[in-house]
Order: sequence, then C-alpha cells, then structure tokens
Amino acid sequence: MAVLEQMTSQQAIELENKYGAHNYHPLPVVLSRGEGVYVWDVEGKKYYDFLSAYSAVNQGHCHPKIVSAMVNQAETLTLTSRAFYNDMLGRFEKYATETFHFDKLLPMNTGAEAVETALKICRKWAYEKKGISENEAQIIVCENNFHGRTTTIISFSNDPVARKNFGPFTKGFIKIEYDNLNALKEALECNANIAGFLVEPIQGEAGVYVPSEGYLKAARELCEKHNVLFIADEVQTGIARTGRLLATCGNCSCTDKHCSGVPEVKPDILILGKALSGGAYPVSAVLANNDIMNVIKPGNHGSTFGGNPVAAAVGMAALEVIKNEELAENAYQLGKLFRSELEKFILGCDLVSSVRGKGLLNAILINDTEESSTAWDICMALKANGLLAKPTHGNIIRFAPPLVMTKEQLLDCVSIIKKTLTEFSK
Ligand SMILES: *Cc1c(COP(=O)(O)O)cnc(C)c1O
Repeated sequence: MAVLEQMTSQQAIELENKYGAHNYHPLPVVLSRGEGVYVWDVEGKKYYDFLSAYSAVNQGHCHPKIVSAMVNQAETLTLTSRAFYNDMLGRFEKYATETFHFDKLLPMNTGAEAVETALKICRKWAYEKKGISENEAQIIVCENNFHGRTTTIISFSNDPVARKNFGPFTKGFIKIEYDNLNALKEALECNANIAGFLVEPIQGEAGVYVPSEGYLKAARELCEKHNVLFIADEVQTGIARTGRLLATCGNCSCTDKHCSGVPEVKPDILILGKALSGGAYPVSAVLANNDIMNVIKPGNHGSTFGGNPVAAAVGMAALEVIKNEELAENAYQLGKLFRSELEKFILGCDLVSSVRGKGLLNAILINDTEESSTAWDICMALKANGLLAKPTHGNIIRFAPPLVMTKEQLLDCVSIIKKTLTEFSK
C-alpha cells in the first residue's frame, strides 16, 4: 500500500471543497480514527462522538467483533449478486427474523432503499390482498418526517431545502400531523384507498420529537381496524438506540435484560438500517410476515449488493454485539442519567429551554430562533472542548453517543456539555 502523506485538517477540508459536491455542511473537523465512543482528528485531538453517524455506530467505532466478521468475510467472498445463492445470507435472515420476530427479511443497503422497498411492498399488498384498484393506493405519512433522499421519499417530505427544484414528485401520499391520533383517524375514515401508514417512532431528524405516551399503540390499532399496514421506520430509532431493541417496543419491559424483544406495538412492516451494521458497512432491511412479504415475487424488486455475504456477516455480528453487550439496557440506564443531569442543569441556564429523548437519542432545545446560529456556535464550542455533536435545526442539538459508553464516560460528557453551555451563557 502506498504511504499517504500526513494531511492537516485545513488541507483535507480544502480538498473536499474543491473536488466534492457541496451536498453537506459539515462541522470543520477532519476525523481519521475511531474506537468505541471516541474519534480522533488528523491532528490527534480526541473527541467523544455524540452523533454516532446519525445512530449508525451504536456498537461503537470499529467494534472488533464486527470488524473481524467483515474482514474474514471480505477475504472469503464479497459479492455474488442474488443471481446465485450465498452461504451467509440465509444465516443472517434467520438470525434477524428470530431477533425481531418476523417471518421474512428483504435485504437492501441504505435506509432510503429500505424505505422505498417498504413502500413498494405496501402498495403491492394493497392491490393484491386488500383489493384497492390499481394506481389508487395512498400511503399516510407524517409532517416533518425524514425517510431519506430518493425522489419518491422527498415527494412526501415537507423540508423545502430537500425538495426545491427536484420535482415533479411522486403521487400517492397523504401527509398528516405527527403525534395526532385524530388526524390519523380522519385520514383513515375518509379514504377507502389507504394502504399504509409510514411513521418514525421518534422523529429523529426533525429534532428528536418523542410522541405522546400511547400514540404508537393507538395508531397501530387504528391501522388494524382499517386494514392498513403500520410501517415503522426504525432506521434511526432501532437497534437499541432508545433503550430498547426497537422503539416500537412501547412499554414492554425491555429494561429487563431477558426481555425477548417482542414489541408491544408490532409493526406490519419494520424498516431497519444504520446500526444494523454498526456503522461498518451499508446494511438495511425490511421485515414482515409471510402474508405481506409473499407479494414480492422474483423480478419484482432487488439490488445488486443487497444481501451480499459481507453485509450478511456484518449484520449478524452487529446484532450479536447488541445482545451480548446488553446495549439496550445500557442505553436505557445512561439515557435516564443523561436527561436527569441536564434537566437539573438547565433550571439555572437560560440558554437551554428543554431536554427530551429516549434512551440515548436525546436533544436539547436552544432558547433562540430556528434561523439563529446559536446551536451551531455551541457545537463549535463543544468541539473545542472535545465533544462532537451537530444541530438538527437552527436551535436543536441532538445528543446520540455510541451505546457502548460507560457511566464514567457519560458523566464526563455531561460535565463537558455543562461547562460549554456555562461558558456560552456568559
Ligand atoms: C437516516 C434515515 C433514513 C435514510 O437512511 P440512509 O441510509 O441515509 O438512506 C431513513 N429513515 C430514517 C428515520 C433515518 O434516520
């Protein structure tokens, strides 16, 4: 391997600016190494990662078990395409369906692809099982959703920045207010062509909006009553992030480490991505039972890389780590501690108006307008103090560290955050 010249942060940023499309606005930090809850920049400064690649790195950076599964498989067989069988995919499918209690899994690579897959399955089910006339199916979605970046997915986004000048848009979606059961009830009652309801159990990108207690369960019951598929996008909330294996677990006793993970609110279609690979490799999946998944026949849908042997090995290792290290339980306990520490702190701090979240998916609301740069400036100050986080909106900062954090590390992070906010209030 050629030895690469050491690069400064400034040089790396300039290279990306010059040769890369400007489709992101990153914090100016250039990372070159990660381990567990830590990342290091090219100058060697160490940080706590409080974004975890949007919750893809729940198992911590470069988890040795996941990396070794990936390396071993990469040296053995990487890609066959689904034109042939491979000896890893079935094992992964068995493991994941047993973990999440579904009959079948359809493997893809990215979260957006898995969402697209779920929408296609839902529509096909509507025509072939529910009896909706062709091309008439509607899928209900929520305002301020984030489900990815494809043309169809942005068609039902209401973020002007994500949509402007990308039309014409895909039809067949009805948008209702999030966390509003009446809106869902009305939408279901006044249209006989509803095929599905697509929802995030907690709206992550929108700013970590946790719905009211009982919302998901009641929404699921409404869907059942109207023979409409309840589709949970757990790309960000799933895989132990919110203190349970899945956020749709509702109030089941997943704090009990022997919990089977059977969700109280069981979606008809479950969408997973991000931490399904522990951040090592793009792995996503859609899970459903036979009555739904069997509408998909050879040729209907697929992906060259979906279900490749490396993805299968990585996906299985990533789920094993979640179970073996009891990361849902850890996220539950540390999340409680994190929120209670910050809640105490903000009583005496005008800068932050509230703390919210579940497990280790949390956010603070900055007492300023959405257009202000305050949240960004605070993130810059946090960076200087050794902690990396990013605003989701002008005035909301999400805090989502890897779930392999210890209590001592979490308390260290809490004091960095308190110190930074105190400095900033002055
Ligand atoms: C990140 C995310 C997606 C999209 O995943 P990609 O891998 O970026 O395509 C979809 N849904 C939710 C809830 C997400 O957080």
